[in-house]
Amino acid sequence: MKRSCTTCDGSGVVLTPLGSRANAAVCGCFRHCSLCRDSGRLFSKDAAHREFVQICECEQRRQRVRLYNEAGVPAKFFDARLRDEQKDRHNADAYNTFVLHAKDYSRNDRGLVLMGAPGTGKTHLVAAFIYELIFRHGMPTLFQDFFDLLSRLRSGYSRDEPEEALIAPLIQVDVLVVDELGKGRNTPWEQTILDTIISHRYNDRKTTVFTSNFTESRRTTLVERVRSKDRMDEERELRETLRDRVGSRIYSRLKEMCDFIVLEGPDRRDLDGAAAG
Ligand SMILES: [Zn+2]
Ligand SMILES: [Zn+2]
Repeated sequence: MKRSCTTCDGSGVVLTPLGSRANAAVCGCFRHCSLCRDSGRLFSKDAAHREFVQICECEQRRQRVRLYNEAGVPAKFFDARLRDEQKDRHNADAYNTFVLHAKDYSRNDRGLVLMGAPGTGKTHLVAAFIYELIFRHGMPTLFQDFFDLLSRLRSGYSRDEPEEALIAPLIQVDVLVVDELGKGRNTPWEQTILDTIISHRYNDRKTTVFTSNFTESRRTTLVERVRSKDRMDEERELRETLRDRVGSRIYSRLKEMCDFIVLEGPDRRDLDGAAAG
């Protein structure tokens, strides 16, 4: 049954930025369901005339809206979708890979590592992927900025909160998206946190998707300006690959769990700025 609604385009779901998160809500045009009279259940009969209960599409929509609101997609990416008009000659390969994964996703699929310079649209792409996983497949998915996780853990320690409470959901969820892999100071503690999450998910064969500003080649990886240790007034360029950054143990796990993709192209934030100006 196709309804025409200008608010939701017939999808029944409206997405908006709400505080720091992207928020989903059932559209007003689907507030009442004539199929199940708002019970959320449908009674049908099988070939042998035995009655069975099915979940109504309105209840399924409500469940997916809840999943999306628990996923933690940043507000900025509330309208991120895998639309063809997002595709260009720079991102086509990466874009098509995500479209394929989104279309045929099944639980325990291989993960992805999306690498590229800042501003190439990595987070936009994974946010659009999360939308598909949840609204197309009903797959519980969490978005976690790695740097943000580290600061939440640190502030948790100062309040005596156990780190398990923060890490357990990231280990258990069906699909985990880790944004900004390798960001941080790369201390042994940071590596232990990452290793804990990755090892558990590896053993449980769970799908994990990463974005990173670090790539596998020194030519394309993030260039950082760091102060030299002995001469503080001297700056040098640091070009660490993803492997340098996360260590060989985590790197080889990632290679087993994920396909690696490079997202090329100019900084989209500059392009947006140029378009706006
Ligand atoms: Zn609507
Ligand atoms: Zn219904």
